[in-house]
Amino acid sequence: HAPVHFRALLEMSRFHGDKVFLTYEDQHISYEEHFRRAATLARRLVEEYGVVKGDRVAIAMRNYPEWVIAFSATLAAGAIAVPLNAWWTAQELEFGLSDSGAKVLIADGERAARPTGLARSLIVTRGEVPEGARSFDDVLGRIEADVTLPPVELLPEDPATIFYTSGTTGRPKGALGSHRNLGQSPMTVAYGLLRSVVRAGKDPAESAGQRRVTLLTVPLFHVTGCFAVMTTTMFTGGGLVLMYKWDAGRALELIEREKVTTFSGVPTNVWQLLSHPDLGKFDISSLNSLGYGGAPAPPKLLERITEQLPTRAPSNGYGMTETTALAINNAGADYLAKPDSIGLPMPVVEVKIADPLGGELPVGEVGELCLRGPNVILGYWNRPEATAETFVGGWLHTGDLARVDDEGFVFIVDRAKDMVIRGGENVYCAEVEAALFEHPAVEDVAVIGIPHDELGEEVGAVVRLTSPASTEELRAFLRERIAAFKVPVRFWVRETELPRNPGGKILKTHLRKEVLSS
Ligand code: ATP
Ligand code: MG
Repeated sequence: HAPVHFRALLEMSRFHGDKVFLTYEDQHISYEEHFRRAATLARRLVEEYGVVKGDRVAIAMRNYPEWVIAFSATLAAGAIAVPLNAWWTAQELEFGLSDSGAKVLIADGERAARPTGLARSLIVTRGEVPEGARSFDDVLGRIEADVTLPPVELLPEDPATIFYTSGTTGRPKGALGSHRNLGQSPMTVAYGLLRSVVRAGKDPAESAGQRRVTLLTVPLFHVTGCFAVMTTTMFTGGGLVLMYKWDAGRALELIEREKVTTFSGVPTNVWQLLSHPDLGKFDISSLNSLGYGGAPAPPKLLERITEQLPTRAPSNGYGMTETTALAINNAGADYLAKPDSIGLPMPVVEVKIADPLGGELPVGEVGELCLRGPNVILGYWNRPEATAETFVGGWLHTGDLARVDDEGFVFIVDRAKDMVIRGGENVYCAEVEAALFEHPAVEDVAVIGIPHDELGEEVGAVVRLTSPASTEELRAFLRERIAAFKVPVRFWVRETELPRNPGGKILKTHLRKEVLSS
């Protein structure tokens, strides 16, 4: 079979043998054990659940080792893995299950208790097994040492995964990824990791001999966790340390205990790690790289990393569910030289900045970022209209506004849907946010459009402060940095953290409703 298949990756991972792949609390699972369990589960899905190529198998659980085993097994069986958001309510889980038409649901006890009235096969781990369902261990049964993957014929273009987008701009869409998308992903990410080591002025040969241990801080049900971290770890034979849920203090403990070398997550995770009062109390000398992405990184983050953890190679990765995670990244010396940039496209990715008709714009001009390459998914599941709108002539229209400089570095200007149009004048929220972040009292910020009768929209800002600052002071500060029409007319000061989804993105629609009704 062609090496683009996940099955090939899985079979190759077996050669890492006794090396620990997954660590969860006191549990350690080696590559060989992971392979045996995944292969056994794949056989059970085929033989006992009648799963055939193209069937959907949904996974709804926390970041347990069983998540990884279920994912591997599903793909090895030729079925389509449908990771569901573990934070979803019963109703949202129902949506994911019916939208994907899943034949089998593999869930943890907490999630298994949520979906109601669904006549589908349910396999449950870690918790109560409802009537009619079976436990994960019972399904696995006896695991033979010489188990092999069940036979199935797959082509590179066959669908492999349905990941739901974060739902930042509307209802989550099922992104249909192929075996080719998945197969290229670890190589693309490995290239990005190499680039960050090289651009940080380090000798890649030195780190090549070192065992890479990555702390997974983000959910596996999003592509950052699954592809940028999990499958890449599997590809490189490293260790993956799982957490029940993100917690900066716990992360510090685990970095020390498991000698974590790579910290990977969304910018919020890194920010919270650096802000933790116990940062200095743990031995985190094993840590050599800090990678983040999937959401805009606050401009102060890089400064804080270079100040607080100067020997760690930082990198910022841009990616979407639709690009099977990483598509563009900025690392090391490049990142320090151009901190506002998301960097250079990965070798497999082509970039085009397009005008509203899809025509290519010249260097320096702002337009929609469009991407093409073997990482771009097949389309949206069950959404022909959204697919036709987003995937045009082989190009993925990202919905992000960007420009490219003469060296090919990409700069995200804003999300097209985030932009505030004030009396016909475009105001990029991201620009106003960046200016506000420069103020020493500003800890976090979200700039939003607020309805205005005459202008259509006005600019508003929700801020979280570390020390008192008056609205007047913030306005005066901004007036020195950005044009007057971009300066927010209203400010809301929040005591609590801004609402973010598990992907680290501020839930602006939610926030806007909340502040406007207050
Ligand atoms: P939905 O498509 O459902 O509205 P979403 O776009 O937030 O949700 P994802 O696929 O998780 O869903 O996120 C992709 C988006 O995240 C990109 O389009 C971009 O706006 C943002 N993003 C990702 N990485 C970065 C980064 N490094 N810097 C800035 N923005 C980023
Ligand atoms: Mg999106």
